[in-house]
Amino acid sequence: MNTVTVRIRPEAEKFTAEEEAALRRAGSIIQSGGLVAFPTETVYGLGGDALNRESARKIYAAKGRPSDNPLIVHICRLEDLEKIACRIPEEAFRIAEAFWPGPLTMILHKTALVPPETTGGLDTVAVRFPSDRIAARLIRCSGGFVAAPSANRSGRPSPTCARYVLQDMDGRIDMMIDGGQVGIGLESTILDLTVSPPQILRPGYVTEEMLKKVLQEVDTDVTILGGGDGQAPRAPGMKYRHYAPAGDLTVVEGSPGTVLAYINGQTAAAKQAGERTGILCTVENLGSYRADVVKCVGSRWDDESIARHLFTVLREFDDEGVTKIYAEAFDTAGLGQAIMNRLLKAAGHHIVKV
Ligand code: AMP
Ligand code: MG
Repeated sequence: MNTVTVRIRPEAEKFTAEEEAALRRAGSIIQSGGLVAFPTETVYGLGGDALNRESARKIYAAKGRPSDNPLIVHICRLEDLEKIACRIPEEAFRIAEAFWPGPLTMILHKTALVPPETTGGLDTVAVRFPSDRIAARLIRCSGGFVAAPSANRSGRPSPTCARYVLQDMDGRIDMMIDGGQVGIGLESTILDLTVSPPQILRPGYVTEEMLKKVLQEVDTDVTILGGGDGQAPRAPGMKYRHYAPAGDLTVVEGSPGTVLAYINGQTAAAKQAGERTGILCTVENLGSYRADVVKCVGSRWDDESIARHLFTVLREFDDEGVTKIYAEAFDTAGLGQAIMNRLLKAAGHHIVKV
């Protein structure tokens, strides 16, 4: 299959006639059962018609994703929610009011309109209303319901720009909409509203603190940062190894000086043993590390920049053929919970405390 790429300027206020035509074409590809990758405010998504079981099968095949790992359905109008979800609790409307359109996914009971292929056989459905204007227009042109997991091959870091989508998906999908670099860089927060109190199944840009301002009580799945003694995570996809770079990744936690000395020591030994070494760090320590490739994800005091660069940096280690990587651990408050959740999964929960 030949993957056609179209470019849409992310910053412009209005679409040009050419861009609008490209989005309509993308919409008709999705409506006729094809797959289109597109930008959202979180990461790039791989879109197919959420109401078409064949499209869901194609998405699983293109990603190499296990079919028990359900897809998120993206909508572009609040009134469409009740077509795919039922028995919606009052809290869901309050959450929608506060965080939609935006980087938040709700788990709700599904209606018969949503085929079991889309939900991995579950009787619940994950729904998100993205704020990205390219995503919103594409969903509208596609009939209103787009199933879109992250546009990476299963297990790889989620793509934050078109180049990384094509690295994984060129020739496997019909069209690629290149809308530049995404803003947030980590996938949406997933909140399960079929349980009481509602529970966070995957941390993201919308934090527990933000949700607690709208709901009295919010729980968090204990497995998010490796707790729960081997208990299975409640979001089926969270049980899989994920986000992993090709090189072997270890996260190192401790006081800044100890972490620095440990990482430099381990890296020197790995280099001696013939490894191509990489270090993932914050700008505060950038000048103090020695490795073949030292990559900065941002400032320790700016969670948003760390979130935005994390997956990009993991991919860059692959681009540079790094085989052994050490990463500084991050504080888990606020957005830090989502950052550490992704980093620990990328490392297969290999963490050293020094
Ligand atoms: P991705 O599409 O790559 O962002 O991953 C979607 C995530 O949402 C996976 O971890 C899924 O397991 C999770 N998910 C989707 N639908 C449901 C559902 N009905 N119940 C629980 N988790 C879900
Ligand atoms: Mg994903």
